[in-house]
Amino acid sequence: MQKREGRQILSDGMRLRCPRCGAGKMFLGMFKMRSECSSCHFRFEREAGYFVGAMYINYGMTVIIAFAGYFALDYFTAIPFLPNFILWGVFSALFPVFFFRYSRSLWLSFDCIFNPSDSPDSRREGANPPSA
Ligand SMILES: [Zn+2]
Repeated sequence: MQKREGRQILSDGMRLRCPRCGAGKMFLGMFKMRSECSSCHFRFEREAGYFVGAMYINYGMTVIIAFAGYFALDYFTAIPFLPNFILWGVFSALFPVFFFRYSRSLWLSFDCIFNPSDSPDSRREGANPPSA
């Protein structure tokens, strides 16, 4: 398989496409993730607990946006403390639900960029048996 650039891998990740081939979709619905790529059979969940790192991405993005948004509104508008606080509290509860798929996709994309692997264990079992 042709080596892909990090920028292309991230672009495919943000479109919720397979970071390896860019063709297969990663999700069946809002929360249901495919076990492997329908196009290249790249296994998405590499091991148990693999997507814990995606939770850090989701949490980090939520905190960064909520803090920046709170202080931006506080600085540039005359919005009182309580409505501003409630606004960003509600945002912090809803945004992670929306960003769930993207955080997983980004986590997998980062893994493909920093730990590129074309080994058989990253594919569906039996799809590419190791040669002896
Ligand atoms: Zn693929």
